[in-house]
Amino acid sequence: MSKVLIIGAGGVGRVVVHKCAQAKEVFTGITLASRTKSKCDAIAAEIPHFPIKTAQVDADNVPELVALIKQEQPQLVLNVALPYQDLTIMDACLETGVDYLDTANYEPLDTAKFEYSWQWAYHERFKEQGLMALLGSGFDPGVTNVYTALAAQKYLDEVHEIDIIDANAGDHGQPFATNFNPEINIREVTAPCRHWQEGQWIETPPLSTNHSFDFPEGIGPMNIYRMYHEEMESLVKHIPTIKKAQFWMTFSDNYLKHLEVLQNIGMTRIDEVEYQGQKIVPLQFLKAVLPDPGSLGPLTKGRTCIGVIARGIKDGKRKQVYIYNTCDHQACYQEVNSQAISYTTGVPAAVGAMMMLTGKWRGEGVFNMEQFDPELFLDTLAPMGLKTKVIDGGDWPEL
Ligand code: NDP
Repeated sequence: MSKVLIIGAGGVGRVVVHKCAQAKEVFTGITLASRTKSKCDAIAAEIPHFPIKTAQVDADNVPELVALIKQEQPQLVLNVALPYQDLTIMDACLETGVDYLDTANYEPLDTAKFEYSWQWAYHERFKEQGLMALLGSGFDPGVTNVYTALAAQKYLDEVHEIDIIDANAGDHGQPFATNFNPEINIREVTAPCRHWQEGQWIETPPLSTNHSFDFPEGIGPMNIYRMYHEEMESLVKHIPTIKKAQFWMTFSDNYLKHLEVLQNIGMTRIDEVEYQGQKIVPLQFLKAVLPDPGSLGPLTKGRTCIGVIARGIKDGKRKQVYIYNTCDHQACYQEVNSQAISYTTGVPAAVGAMMMLTGKWRGEGVFNMEQFDPELFLDTLAPMGLKTKVIDGGDWPEL
């Protein structure tokens, strides 16, 4: 019996519920809980073949979470709410003796700071109780960590450099919209860039370095911008041969133009301002007026292409390998009513849960994805909807 409690009924939550319900051989019970119960009910109604229980919960409130976990008795809690809730949900898991999984690292609400220190600090407490927490089981972080581990295990003797490249070659036709939670997305994109080089983090202004990159499978050239992304922190810790790690993402000129204006006029601020006697956070207000990423599903066409170019040494010679996935927005929408950004996050979350529940990935404490056997994960990821492509060798430009 593998019963799970999924917290968060947004774009990613919808995909996770659909995919868990498809894997009946592993998941025998699903409870979906979120701040707004009607969103859970709407998702449950899309999946009549699998009985899904729904509940209301404020995941910032540990006693509420503890009461819900005690009532539902899951083996695992999947956190696909927001990064702000990671620690309260981990606290509730410790109090009730239940395993934990998430897709994004903890961020304090008032500082756009992305680091694993807060969650790694839970390692001993999870270990003492014989519990497992799997961090960052989405695509990036998540599958990109697994791809890097695969490069280190199978294609290279030593990985020296990685470029993680995330392309959304899709179009939703909206003047400005984000593909996942706008508040989290804009906090991430506007943060200073950091990359790893020769044992230290180098900080540069946000989105100040870019290149044109020619994507495979007919996607073609797109501009990629260097930014900080959390998986680099765990990868350089767990694969210490990595001397240089960079993360790149595509942005359209249109997206960047709007973002620049929003920043210049103060709409991306995360501190409180006084408005008509009330305190509001401009970025939270902006989220309320931007299109809901969930509404982009039926509008989005094109593909994503996310992967890792790993460079290093094989049999004494320098070599590179490009490991990636492409995913079609419209095919995702047909299958689970979501575009490919939510799909590529939700499928690995469901697969991470399958790894834990079947014991294929097991440990006591707090773990990142690269610490387990990558091939076991990818063998399940493909039939669940995300195939891995490998270009072994080749001549990708240094970035
Ligand atoms: P959404 O904003 O669409 O959904 C978030 C959900 O969490 C909403 O249902 C929201 O409820 C709920 N929620 C927020 N606060 C609380 C709370 N205090 N208590 C209970 N529920 C709460 O976000 P996404 O689905 O796009 O993203 C979900 C997560 O996935 C985020 O952490 C994001 O960073 C991560 N992500 C990871 C990626 C990866 O590749 N690793 C890529 C994309 C996203 P309500 O509807 O009431 O607001």
